[in-house]
Amino acid sequence: MTETERTLRTEIVARCRELNSSGINQGTSGNISARFGDRMLISPSATPYDDMTPEMIASVALDDSSGAYEGPLKPSTEWRFHQQLLAGRQDAVAVIHAHSTYCTALAIARREIPACHYMIAAFGGNTVRCAGYATYGTGELAALTMSAMEDRTACLLANHGMVVIGDSLAKAMWRAVELEAIAKQYYLSLAIGGPVLLSDDDIAETQKGFAEYGLRSEHAN
Ligand code: 13P
Ligand code: ZN
Repeated sequence: MTETERTLRTEIVARCRELNSSGINQGTSGNISARFGDRMLISPSATPYDDMTPEMIASVALDDSSGAYEGPLKPSTEWRFHQQLLAGRQDAVAVIHAHSTYCTALAIARREIPACHYMIAAFGGNTVRCAGYATYGTGELAALTMSAMEDRTACLLANHGMVVIGDSLAKAMWRAVELEAIAKQYYLSLAIGGPVLLSDDDIAETQKGFAEYGLRSEHAN
């Protein structure tokens, strides 16, 4: 294994632990992947994050949908949507899936997140869609995820959780934390009469400023 691969594997393990320590995920729910050349490195299935080591990270060819993998443990059951996002989206270098509480509460109610806060622009448009329901780990769930992610960098998964992509693991983690925050803010606003939504012009204006802001946050760790 090259030093570059080891470094990326080590970062995936660290980000998995951060997912739980930041409070946006729990238990062995959720999974993280990153593109590595023409392969994807992905967290193993059903493995407590505290026990995970860089050697346990599975490696899957981006162009092989057979389920073949390299590694001592099976890749995450959600390898299909990770693979399709990393292979099909230029802007996806890392993918994070979590069962964060407020995103999941909205997804249970099958609600998308509207333009309730200017930070909605961090996810590529004026909504974060909620993908339809399919059993976890299925090709059907991957297809629903891909369509909900069109022109977006995040989506909710009905009765399940959320998915974000980023052009680095740091950026994907930043987006995961921001998505859970806006989900919580929207949820709370529903309890006090409902949000006043921003206009498409408001969101377009925010997006202009985000080009520069995104660059800075990409370098943050
Ligand atoms: P894995 O442990 O297989 O990654 O599954 C967790 C999960 O969140 C499934 O949707
Ligand atoms: Zn899940």
